Amino acid sequence: MPLVVTGSIGIDTVHTPTGSAESVLGGSCTYFAAAASFFTPVRLVAVVGEDFDNRHLQTLKAFDNIDLEGLEHREGGRTFRWTGRYLDGMNRRETVEVHLGVLDEDPPRVPKAFADSDYVFLANTDPANQLIFLERFPDASLVVCDTMDLWISTQRDNLQRLLDRVHGLVLNDAEAELLTENPNPVRAARMILDRHDLTFVIVKKGEHGAVLVHRDGIAALPAFPLDNVIDPTGAGDSFAGGLMGYLASTRQTGFEAIQRGLSYATTIASFTVESFSLDRLQRLTDAELQRRLIDFARIVRVV
Ligand code: AMP
Repeated sequence: MPLVVTGSIGIDTVHTPTGSAESVLGGSCTYFAAAASFFTPVRLVAVVGEDFDNRHLQTLKAFDNIDLEGLEHREGGRTFRWTGRYLDGMNRRETVEVHLGVLDEDPPRVPKAFADSDYVFLANTDPANQLIFLERFPDASLVVCDTMDLWISTQRDNLQRLLDRVHGLVLNDAEAELLTENPNPVRAARMILDRHDLTFVIVKKGEHGAVLVHRDGIAALPAFPLDNVIDPTGAGDSFAGGLMGYLASTRQTGFEAIQRGLSYATTIASFTVESFSLDRLQRLTDAELQRRLIDFARIVRVV
């Protein structure tokens, strides 16, 4: 089933306790599309400015399964830029600088050929633009969104409106607390679910995994245990890409499929954090992905 995503394409500068990366390719929809492309073809709708480097474009093009017809290069525009720093090991992140650039302008155009997309993911971007994008897909089987502290703080009304129109929400524990003022991720997920009549909410808890709160049940998985985390940036977006890519590839939307999807989501995200930017996903083979999925199944075996 065709999967479409909109969100940010960014130029990131990232500082971790062990190193830094300057002006590398990032963005919510970049990580999402790269991860999802291991499971299904993905249609990307995003906008970059005149300053978008050709080398970053080549990186995107190198992922066979990403359709870039919806990538708009806006004349006179500036590409979204984000600088982040990780603290307390890699457990906490602060945004040092953000320049919205084209994210603060009109949303990117959606190609006509993308109109039949049945699985829709609204990766992190301005909720006003997420709402406009969503209008193009009134009959989608599954619409899921993500959001971030910046938008919860500055665009709460549009975000609430968006949450009334989607089936699922994927967010991290700090964002869930910011949205509900409740520090318990399960309780916070339930509050969001009930408030907006959602089908499910997934709260990601970094290295502690993720919890799925669904109308039909609850599920949880730890993160894949790694001893070589280089940069957690994009883990959340890759997680969402793995989940939606898996669901679109199996044409399912129910609780059990989403629960199974958590394993694919967690496994693909575990590769993202092994390098800065998309470096590890660029080198990842299907065989490596399959091997880690099998390892993960062994690691989390219960009874
Ligand atoms: P994640 O680590 O999965 O939360 O996503 C990190 C990516 O999100 C980075 O590559 C940034 O370029 C991008 N990003 C950071 N802040 C925002 C924002 N406010 N809106 C959209 N994308 C963002």
